[in-house]
Amino acid sequence: MFGLTWVALATVVVAVAMAGCAASPATQEGPSVSGVRVEKWSGGARAAVSLTFDDNNVNQIKILAPMLEELGLRGTFFVITKGRIDIRRDGEGSWKDWKAVHDRGHEIASHGTHKHMAGLTLAEAEKDFADSKRLLQERIGVGHGVTFAYPFNEDSKELRSLDAKYYIASRRECLGWSSKTTAADANADVKKAIEKGVWLVEAAHSTDGDGYEPPPSAEFRAHFEFLKSSKESGELWVAPFGTVARYVKERRAASVEQSGPEGNSLTLVLKITRELPPEPVPLTVSFDIPAGWQDLSAQAGDAILPVKAAGSRAMLDVMPAAEPVTVVVSKKREKSINE
Ligand SMILES: [Zn+2]
Repeated sequence: MFGLTWVALATVVVAVAMAGCAASPATQEGPSVSGVRVEKWSGGARAAVSLTFDDNNVNQIKILAPMLEELGLRGTFFVITKGRIDIRRDGEGSWKDWKAVHDRGHEIASHGTHKHMAGLTLAEAEKDFADSKRLLQERIGVGHGVTFAYPFNEDSKELRSLDAKYYIASRRECLGWSSKTTAADANADVKKAIEKGVWLVEAAHSTDGDGYEPPPSAEFRAHFEFLKSSKESGELWVAPFGTVARYVKERRAASVEQSGPEGNSLTLVLKITRELPPEPVPLTVSFDIPAGWQDLSAQAGDAILPVKAAGSRAMLDVMPAAEPVTVVVSKKREKSINE
């Protein structure tokens, strides 16, 4: 469970913008050198949304995960790593079921063992963080169990500095779905996030009579369809919590420099000044397309990187590495006089 209700939305959006959900930045833009920058959100989207679901309720597996997949979206499931997950039959929320959800592209993350963590000693809390991470990595995969959501939203400064030893990000105050939340409420908040350019994290428990405060699945479907169309228009990046957290961490440590153009090519060098998170995600680098250039191609080492043109800007996704990554962008042909 989490404490916030949908009633407090307006305040929460401001809180998201100011403090950010976990690692979310508020206003920080990527570095800008000669028109080159790392886009704030992947693909040059104006905002990011992560959909998170707590407490491994069975309708997350039966209804919500398949619904997201049908619409081309993926979410984060904060599972309790002890108790029901150990004893449930397959199809009702076993470890095997969660591994299958992972295999379809969702993030399986830690909700610890669902204790009131503020009431634990720091040693007990540390054991909870460490054990649930280890279990997720053993049962699901090494890229999982890298983010955490506090049970009952109970945390403290001490706990947060402790969780950072084990997790790349932990969820902060987010937009919580209650049984009365409608798609219209949630869509309005996504629109606000797009206006502000922030990362919105939504949190729900389940649907259709299952779990804490479940809204009907029709409301989720209408909201997910809105997210899908916002994604397709290029306005919104919808990705699991851990994916966006990785992007933010990397972007904050990134710088990119451009040299050229010289002749038919220009060079971009992406540098990361801090340790990369496990299983890093690509950063979207953009730059002004040189006058008269058309049909760009890009290469980093042997890898061909697709280049997307967005007006006068070109964008490409570059996988960061500990060593600087050099990307050579070339023009395939001149812009013809008729274009
Ligand atoms: Zn919970």
